[in-house]
Amino acid sequence: MTDALKPWNTAEKEAWFASQNIQRSYQADVVDRLTALPSDKFNLEPYGALSHDPARYPLYVVKSKPWNDANPTILITGGVHGYEDTGITGALRFLEEDAAQYADKVNFVVYPCISPLGYEINHRWNRKAEDPNRHFFAGGTAEESLQLMSSVESLKVHFRAAVDLHETNQRDVGITAERRARDGQKFETGDDFIPEGFYLVVASTSDVALGHEVIDAVRKVTPIAADAEILGYKSDKGIIVIDDVKTLLQDFARKHADVSMTTEIYPDNTPKKEAEDAQIATIRTVIAYAMKNPAP
Ligand SMILES: [Zn+2]
Repeated sequence: MTDALKPWNTAEKEAWFASQNIQRSYQADVVDRLTALPSDKFNLEPYGALSHDPARYPLYVVKSKPWNDANPTILITGGVHGYEDTGITGALRFLEEDAAQYADKVNFVVYPCISPLGYEINHRWNRKAEDPNRHFFAGGTAEESLQLMSSVESLKVHFRAAVDLHETNQRDVGITAERRARDGQKFETGDDFIPEGFYLVVASTSDVALGHEVIDAVRKVTPIAADAEILGYKSDKGIIVIDDVKTLLQDFARKHADVSMTTEIYPDNTPKKEAEDAQIATIRTVIAYAMKNPAP
């Protein structure tokens, strides 16, 4: 007999899902806010649904109205990880409070909640215990990621910039332990390290310059992580370059965008509004950059 660790089989993944509880309502918290957006300023379009319960989990994209092909277009994504609340609520507040003022200057494509079942069970994973942010590539299997990729590709739009809104919070210590168990791995040094501040992940070294503008804007709203190293990458004043993973949404987005980045808000010691404000400060900085530099 060996007690070597083994990845979870399908039955163990089903047992994981069976142990999850619905903690909140995607319809009430997200869809109702989307359908309340003014229809003269935004087009709200379904792009799919989750197979677990299509009526409960329709997927929506919001596009600017009017749309002007001559203007730069920004891609904004939230809720790839359903438990990272301010990625979703930051995108919603941006639409409700901010986006309309840029009409005629910048076009937006906003996917505010890519993983709605993850939102309701308040977890990083989807129905099949997959992390959608490791499935944005041709061989990916997470349906949230596949539907998002096919929707973005169907737009035939080149984006001036792409921003994916996330959090890194203290719950990640437990979630990393769950991932190690799921994948049949042992705990590793660093699994329990959470940076206590905002940091920004960019998809390429050429995205670092705009990253510094984002950090300067976010610093006015919430503290920046001071660590010299984050996730094993050298941090340049709160910016890390992850260009060697290729399964993240920011990697997929980078194929369709001149610049691509992922926010990582630290929400644990932060009022929710402050964390949302940091997401919105990032978006505003990227918009200002696109207006100043409409082409690369
Ligand atoms: Zn995340």
